[in-house]
Amino acid sequence: MEVEKAVKTAHHPESTIGVDLGVTSLAVLSTADVIANPKHLERALRTLRRLQRRAARQCGPDKRAREKPSNRWRKTHARIVRLHARVAAARRDGLHKLTTGLVREHGTVVIEDLNVAGMLANRRLARRIAGVGWAELRRQIECKSGWAGGRVVVADRWFPSSKTCSDCGAVKAKLRLSERVFSCDRCGFVLDRDLNAARNLAALASAASCVGTENTPAGNPGKTRIMRATGTVTGRPAPVGAGQLCRGNSGRSGHGFTHFLNGSMSEPV
Ligand SMILES: [Zn+2]
Repeated sequence: MEVEKAVKTAHHPESTIGVDLGVTSLAVLSTADVIANPKHLERALRTLRRLQRRAARQCGPDKRAREKPSNRWRKTHARIVRLHARVAAARRDGLHKLTTGLVREHGTVVIEDLNVAGMLANRRLARRIAGVGWAELRRQIECKSGWAGGRVVVADRWFPSSKTCSDCGAVKAKLRLSERVFSCDRCGFVLDRDLNAARNLAALASAASCVGTENTPAGNPGKTRIMRATGTVTGRPAPVGAGQLCRGNSGRSGHGFTHFLNGSMSEPV
């Protein structure tokens, strides 16, 4: 069913907010608001470890021997599954409340284009990064901003949001991750690192709207881009590559066929 959703515009359509995402605190806003990281997964981890250890000692399913799991294993397993579901639900709930609040108050929300998949490759940080749900946060902001007729500015992945001075605009060459307080070499401006980044992001929105298309060269999706909302919701967009699925399958089967032919001809039986 296609439903036309009533557009609820933001309380302050002219207002712009920059959102700097992090791990220690979930987000720092350019209004100096800090949203703490609830750490749902970390809090459940102790129980989770205990249950998983217990399940390991019980008679689980064995695919090779085709043995069915014991009732005790089933019970423990069900508890593990429920705990994971709980953590996911709590995380989603917190993100929904945050994104709804942001979109409801501010007409323009500026976020970073984070390389989440790349950061998840870091084994030391992967769990904590996955535990905050940045990608889901961005998805929700883009989605809800569309409903509210707002604007989302996604800063380029290489935009130096942390290295730039939000007071004079000087860009530092180097800034260590351990430096939690930003201090400008040129004007001596001192501010919390994340708040400085959030302010730079907020400033990017006005620059992007004034300069127009200078920040968005055609055919370069990696650069800073502005998404304008339409206000109507027409369901989910088609998954990427959905139209190419048929072509991909036929290509693969064709490949398999030639491979088979090659194999039967070249390899001596
Ligand atoms: Zn400065």
